[in-house]
Amino acid sequence: MGTVLDGKAIAAALEERMRSRVEAFRRRPQLAILSFNTPASRLFELMQVERARALGIQCRNEVLDSARVTPEDVERRIQAWNADPAVHGIFVHQPMPPQIDPQRISTMIDPQKDVEGIHPQNSARRFFAKARIGSCTALAVMELIDSTGVPLEGKEAVVVGHSEIVGRPVSMLLLDRLATTTVCHVATNRAGRLEAHVRRAEVLVVAVGRPRLIPGAWIRPESIVIDVGINVVDGKVVGDVEFETARDRAAYISPVPGGVGPVTVMMVMLNTIEAFRLQGGA
Ligand code: NAP
Repeated sequence: MGTVLDGKAIAAALEERMRSRVEAFRRRPQLAILSFNTPASRLFELMQVERARALGIQCRNEVLDSARVTPEDVERRIQAWNADPAVHGIFVHQPMPPQIDPQRISTMIDPQKDVEGIHPQNSARRFFAKARIGSCTALAVMELIDSTGVPLEGKEAVVVGHSEIVGRPVSMLLLDRLATTTVCHVATNRAGRLEAHVRRAEVLVVAVGRPRLIPGAWIRPESIVIDVGINVVDGKVVGDVEFETARDRAAYISPVPGGVGPVTVMMVMLNTIEAFRLQGGA
């Protein structure tokens, strides 16, 4: 039976390391969070605010009504935070309501304050393996993989999902580490080829948002499985991978909840500290 990667313990260790960095600053970094009134967004915001406060990072948060918010409301808020020297990091929750274009929003955030790494300038730097601030979820995935101590060079890595905030940045980070990386998506599944790709993955990252998309029987024995998906089934939070059966085959597997999620929150904090430093904070 594989080892379950403890995201909470990894997050706690990261927090400990960050605390001394924040304590050494003369000023406090400040994170501004824009969230929407959906249960998932409110929960994530709560976790962000809690961890920021525990670390001594100042936090201001604004919750917008998903049904009524206009693109101008979001843009006004971002412009105000861009112009405010007391704000060092800006994080806008995704998914955004359908009337808001996330690509347009990503171009509006000051790249030095973009703690989710979604501004085109930050995405481009990632392409050249020179990211200063990267996708928090993608960094969390790499942190979990690194916690296994298994070297990635030459490994067969398969990423399922090619979204701009998770699948694509994860695949870039795996490439940077010289893993042979395959990216699967909805068309891979439609073509009936998802199983074949998953079966040869020595490192599998699944970020889709469909419960039980990956049956445990598909998992390559002794592989590393990182499940990013968050789904609610019968009131219970589950990932995209059939956990119990997958655990029997994998060498390491991240659970949902308690895997990628807590580490992602800490990556938001790490990026806020990085953004503070980039803006001359000390
Ligand atoms: P997203 O933007 O909806 O992207 C989902 C991706 O999955 C898309 O690339 C989509 O391809 C692909 N896909 C859809 N159906 C598929 C199928 N049947 N087979 C293979 N690929 C399929 O979602 P996201 O923002 O990347 O998030 C993915 C999941 O991770 C969600 O459950 C989300 O809640 C969770 N998440 C967790 C964290 C965390 O910290 N734990 C952070 C962010 C997201 P097409 O675009 O081609 O349709």
